Amino acid sequence: MRLDVLTIFPDYLAPLDLSLIGKARREGLLDVQVHDLREFTHDRHRTVDDTPYGGGAGMVMRPEPWGEALDTVLAQPPVQPLLLIPGPGGEVFNQHMARELAGEPWLVFACGRYEGIDERVYLEAQERLPGRVRVVSLGDYVLNGGEVAVLAIVEAVARLLPGVIGNAASLVEESHEDGLLEYPVYTKPPTWRGHEVPEVLLSGHHGRIERWRRDERLRRTQARRPDMIAALRELPADHPLALGPADRAVLDEQG
Ligand code: SAM
Repeated sequence: MRLDVLTIFPDYLAPLDLSLIGKARREGLLDVQVHDLREFTHDRHRTVDDTPYGGGAGMVMRPEPWGEALDTVLAQPPVQPLLLIPGPGGEVFNQHMARELAGEPWLVFACGRYEGIDERVYLEAQERLPGRVRVVSLGDYVLNGGEVAVLAIVEAVARLLPGVIGNAASLVEESHEDGLLEYPVYTKPPTWRGHEVPEVLLSGHHGRIERWRRDERLRRTQARRPDMIAALRELPADHPLALGPADRAVLDEQG
């Protein structure tokens, strides 16, 4: 997968050299190119922002550097990229979107700063890449810039690519993959500061362990994210993720 990131703080993306993402880059699974937006300015101060038309607080990112930067990055056939523009007003990023993005060959990220990017940059990008521009939010809060969002999105997407995570089976029962949170996990020692590992996990009985884990997922999801349980309750009985009678019994027990 190819990833291009446009930013005024290229150093902010340095963590993409670390851990599994860094390894994936070194192994050629990910090609990450970080571009300094200021390279596309032409004045002595390398200006990327200016005061907002209509007045008001803060500065707005000027369209010209963005136009030139996108001209340069997008002029690299053969495939059409998906342009992702982080912003608190976008569709909220989630695991479903991470899976969608993992199917793309090429993602381009445009990181805003200040009060955001001149609206004409979005409009022109949409004309240039019809249906291939998405504004994506990390959540309902405001960050200083898009870089943190890019780090989060790239990490969530890259770990879904074949070969990035050593044991792909570990992705299957993770939180948000099938509408439930993950079950609690334990490792050695069996007793720690008076807390025991649940007996069932030491039993070696695969059927019981599987049911216990499912029950814990249901209980935990109901306690922490009742909205997710409500969504599962709405599914038709023949849906692959629909709750079964044993699931409903666990939930009813918890109240
Ligand atoms: N004035 C903008 C507004 O109210 O929508 C907020 C601009 S914010 C200070 C600057 C930049 O941070 C945005 O252009 C965007 O790139 C990034 N950003 C802020 N919050 C974000 C969020 N929740 N998700 C993704 N990106 C965010």
